[in-house]
Amino acid sequence: MTKLICNSCSKEYSADDPVWRCNCGGILDIKFTPQIHIEKIKSKFSGMWKYRKYIPLNEDTNIVSFQEGFTPLLEVETGEGRLFVKQDHLFPTGSYKDRGASVLISKVCELGIKKIVEDSSGNAGAAVAAYCAKAGIECDIYVPKSTSSGKLAQIELYGANLHKIPGSREDTAEAVMDAAEKNYYASHSWNPWFFQGTKTFAYEVCEQLGWTSPDIVILPAGNGTLFLGAYIGFSELKNGGIIDTIPKMIAVQAANCAPLYKSYLNKLKGPSGIESVVDTMAEGIAIAKPVRGTQILTAVRKTNGEIIAVTEDEIKYSLYSIMKQGYYIEPTSAAVIAGAVKFQKKNMDSIGGKILVTVFTGHGLKGTDKLMKLNEK
Ligand SMILES: *Cc1c(COP(=O)(O)O)cnc(C)c1O
Ligand SMILES: [Zn+2]
Repeated sequence: MTKLICNSCSKEYSADDPVWRCNCGGILDIKFTPQIHIEKIKSKFSGMWKYRKYIPLNEDTNIVSFQEGFTPLLEVETGEGRLFVKQDHLFPTGSYKDRGASVLISKVCELGIKKIVEDSSGNAGAAVAAYCAKAGIECDIYVPKSTSSGKLAQIELYGANLHKIPGSREDTAEAVMDAAEKNYYASHSWNPWFFQGTKTFAYEVCEQLGWTSPDIVILPAGNGTLFLGAYIGFSELKNGGIIDTIPKMIAVQAANCAPLYKSYLNKLKGPSGIESVVDTMAEGIAIAKPVRGTQILTAVRKTNGEIIAVTEDEIKYSLYSIMKQGYYIEPTSAAVIAGAVKFQKKNMDSIGGKILVTVFTGHGLKGTDKLMKLNEK
């Protein structure tokens, strides 16, 4: 039986309880053990929903989907070697957040909820707004005022009530909390259902590699919604006997906003406080207080991984060199590639013959205003 379980006090809730956080304030996880049989995966669903049997939603009729997912896994040369790059910028709303939004909003339908609230640096808000539009659910999306205009336009045109909050990403997170007292909080960082969608990243990658695990996976870590989802997915595949080992998981942060990198260096259990947030072009991962920071650090350590921080110059360099190969990604997405290149450089001697997987997280068309400004400089 699927349950929600508190990460702090271990209290359990029914999977049909409309809760997004424990009464004690702790974060909730989903307790669910899929019985995986790869020969039986073929289903009437395509895209990420082909793994329907391993997503703990009660009824098929509640699924909200654009047949998204199963994105290509392409080999890209970085100058330091080859990487397999999952093309998650090709999702319906232009970012991998659709993986999480599809499952989360399906669950919202299952719970019979008619209105939700969410806050985001833009892409999660756009994804949630699109799936709510498809499902006929009212939504209020809170974003920092400085968010790229492409993302703001998307959220409004999908019909969401858009709230632009002055100040930092943390000011936005605070602003939504009042609304979250009165409405269901469909938060990509708090709500555990989101991660049941992002876990399909791991299933797809393993299937695309012939049901083997990559050796090393390099993913962004702001709130770690893809990172932790992938960790759940790889863990399920390992526990189900489908793959032998969970890959080494490498988390990438922007050096200008790196609370997890700091903790990793100082061997701390939870995220470090950062005194002042410096602006970064990687707006999508500029998270000063990641609510699941301790979980990210634990996954990094358990898989013998590491955390890498990249400078603005490194992000810019990766952005231009990837675009010159015909891939159009937003600056946040380039930060991940910069991290992968840094990892390749550092480990040149030990990664020969190893399979490295990373991701394009967001489409460049979302960030046209900021990309043009960058190009003027
Ligand atoms: C959401 C997002 C990320 C990763 O963010 P997390 O906060 O770690 O979930 C990376 N790139 C883009 C483009 C994103 O939208
Ligand atoms: Zn609790």
